[in-house]
Amino acid sequence: MKDAQPRTVYLKDYRAPDYLVDSTRLHFELQPQDTLVKSRLQIRRNPAAETAPGEALPPLLLDGVDLELLSLSIDGELVPASRYRELPEGLSIHVKNPEFVLEIHNRINPKDNTSLEGLYLSNGMYCTQCEAEGFRKITYYPDRPDVMSRFTTTIVAPRQYPVLLSNGNQIERRTTEDGRLLVTWEDPFAKPAYLFALVAGELQTVEDSFTTVSGREVKLQIFTEAKNIRKCDHAMRSLKKAMRWDEEVYGREYDLDIFMVVAVDHFNMGAMENKGLNIFNSACVLASPETATDATFQRIESIVGHEYFHNWSGNRVTCRDWFQLSLKEGFTVFRDAEFSADMNSRAVKRIEDVSLLRTAQFAEDGGPMAHPVRPDSYMEISNFYTLTVYEKGAEVVRMIHTLLGTEGFRKGSDLYFQRHDGCAVTCEDFIAAMEDANGVDLTQFRRWYSQAGTPVLEVSDAFDAAHGTYALTVRQSCPATPGQDKKLPFHIPLAVGLLGADGRDLPLDPQGTTQKVLQVTETEQTFSFTGLKEKPLPSLLRGFSAPVRVRYGYSTEQLLFLMRNDSDEFNRWDAGQRLAFMALEQLQKDYREGRDLQLQPQLVDAYRSVLQNRELDPALVAEMLALPSAQTLAEQSERIDAEAIIVAREFARGALAEALKGELLDCYRRLDCDKPYRPEAADIAERSLKNTCLAYLCVTGEAELLALAQAQFENAANMTDSAAALTSLVNHADDDMAKPALESFYERWQQDTQVVELWLGLQSTSARRGTLEAVRELMQHPAFELTNPNRVRAVIGGFANRNFTQFHRADGRGFEFLAEQVIALDKLNPQIAARLVTPITRWKKYTGELGKKMHRALQSVMESGKLSRDLYEVVSKSLV
Ligand SMILES: [Zn+2]
Repeated sequence: MKDAQPRTVYLKDYRAPDYLVDSTRLHFELQPQDTLVKSRLQIRRNPAAETAPGEALPPLLLDGVDLELLSLSIDGELVPASRYRELPEGLSIHVKNPEFVLEIHNRINPKDNTSLEGLYLSNGMYCTQCEAEGFRKITYYPDRPDVMSRFTTTIVAPRQYPVLLSNGNQIERRTTEDGRLLVTWEDPFAKPAYLFALVAGELQTVEDSFTTVSGREVKLQIFTEAKNIRKCDHAMRSLKKAMRWDEEVYGREYDLDIFMVVAVDHFNMGAMENKGLNIFNSACVLASPETATDATFQRIESIVGHEYFHNWSGNRVTCRDWFQLSLKEGFTVFRDAEFSADMNSRAVKRIEDVSLLRTAQFAEDGGPMAHPVRPDSYMEISNFYTLTVYEKGAEVVRMIHTLLGTEGFRKGSDLYFQRHDGCAVTCEDFIAAMEDANGVDLTQFRRWYSQAGTPVLEVSDAFDAAHGTYALTVRQSCPATPGQDKKLPFHIPLAVGLLGADGRDLPLDPQGTTQKVLQVTETEQTFSFTGLKEKPLPSLLRGFSAPVRVRYGYSTEQLLFLMRNDSDEFNRWDAGQRLAFMALEQLQKDYREGRDLQLQPQLVDAYRSVLQNRELDPALVAEMLALPSAQTLAEQSERIDAEAIIVAREFARGALAEALKGELLDCYRRLDCDKPYRPEAADIAERSLKNTCLAYLCVTGEAELLALAQAQFENAANMTDSAAALTSLVNHADDDMAKPALESFYERWQQDTQVVELWLGLQSTSARRGTLEAVRELMQHPAFELTNPNRVRAVIGGFANRNFTQFHRADGRGFEFLAEQVIALDKLNPQIAARLVTPITRWKKYTGELGKKMHRALQSVMESGKLSRDLYEVVSKSLV
């Protein structure tokens, strides 16, 4: 049976591999539609395999997809057809000896590979993406992370591909008799096939070097097309910072003589940590002040760090199976977040990460695809590269850090790396190392890996004035998720502080500690604080110490007080968000009940004092001035009334802009100066606040204020200011002003891949009426390509994920549009299709007709014909 219904894979079925591959020799002869792959595998029986001794040798199972098998031989002899069987996705080979050499010749077609998994062509350059299961599209292989092998790779290519790269160190480079170039690479470290990489192209390189802590010299190279060669400096600087940081904070040194990064235009993800040869989406590595925004500069620093950190957390110690994906991703996201926090504003980094978690990850937890950090089953592993595995996984690691402290955590990570270097291990091994190094018991904490859903903490308090005792009572619960109706209590570190009437932190013990981490482990628990003269105001979940929702009946006055006084900058921001959320909820209610809308004057006053506070970091001020996004409001609603959310938020933004016009203008003028561009934290903070003010000012639609945006657009010397001004014009100016600006922008930057992507995204996310029609037109523009994921994400993804207002238009056309695109994309690139469909999988949470329309759109995807395994899994689970 060839077209099997997608099969579910379960963690509980894990078995050690029957055979190991000690060495892998690969030989590629590159041709666009006819690449020849020869592999020579030294194979032996796995002593740890689960068949009893004396039993016959089990067949050797190899994975393989879209391959043309040319020949198969064992120990130099051709294997007759009677000794092997072709499976729908691989081969089963009859084995006679416990040790043997297997040789396979097969053919592949990189040019027609639009899935961007395996080996493919991108703008005339060959490159690979093998995680999670792409290697099986290159050759037959036991494509599972617990089979680790030493790879030697020879690449033979025509002379128009002078750069031929793979993992490890280059050991040979020569011209063949027929005039082609031949290069061989050898990787001394055993690795799973998912970390294999190959690149061939006409590329330029930027070089630098790094001296490791033990004094070894490492050559650093970034490869890109000639036109982008001046856009690599920031990535190179970031790489060197990351290498130093990992030595200082984790004691991890780089291990090869060379570290290479390659920028590729067609890429399904951000970047990939292949051993010694990281492959990056060009959008995540290339930047110059004229062409990239501050956000891009920061994203590059964090992604370069992330992929580099994987060299230890992922490559040297890897995952046993894909259920353990968070072992490498959760840990590495935590590492890159701390790196970014050390390089930039810690509080702002935390706010950005938590905002993402609270909108998108909490929504995942509440949706049809909800799964634990370590999932129990999947149909297609590509669907589990999720915010839950990455971001919530990082929060879980952060909680361990909070529970053990910086030193204890470092002891744990040292033991983990030492114990498991060169091995493929599990999340359990990670926690066990943390426990053993610190002599603690994290048994209950492990539930964070196995239970899905966002826990809720209901907090209440009581003050006994006679005894000076304050009691905080915490009740925890967690909503049901698919397959998990009942949850056991989590172990939750709850960081708290208590504020006195003067706004200062009260001492919580005789030593004068002002912050404590409460260990919440039971369904209901009471924590007492003594020696208090007055009833304090609690500051709960400081620094967002756990990925949970906290409910406490704060009054408006109390939130205003926290917003002004909390010593925890994160909670200061969060108090403002809670306040805004309450105000926006009231507006939604008023709108539904037909009352006139009015913004609470206290909220306006609070925003005014934030705006005028010159002591706060301007980046934090910018964050505090931003209202919760429509997506956040939707996520926090029991049932989503999209129209009320849109109306309430637009009204509040407009009312704030009107009321604070003078202050916004003052602040804008104060920060609008001609400093030379530097992507440094202090300057980024000022630009961020300035452009936040500009965006508010343009909401008023007043000609004079729009003229400010126009002037900034015309005079900007960097992309941050230019793009911010253009965004304001596109959202708030009329066509006479916005259209020429968009045209001149395109005219100027049409040759620059990254700027064109920004230009596309800026239009697809416009809240203006008629954006859907504009998006359809953009798809006809020469700059759009359905086979290029970055363009798809900018136009279709921008519209569906980052344009709440227009995507949720009442006629449901936005949903129909997304369904159409997903169906078309599924035939080209199933991974992208499956990710893009997410917004319409949440139909159950929507009220009224809109929910029905969303459901119909999703249904139309299901009924469109045969779906890829990726898309089938997401759609079928969401229709239930
Ligand atoms: Zn990663």
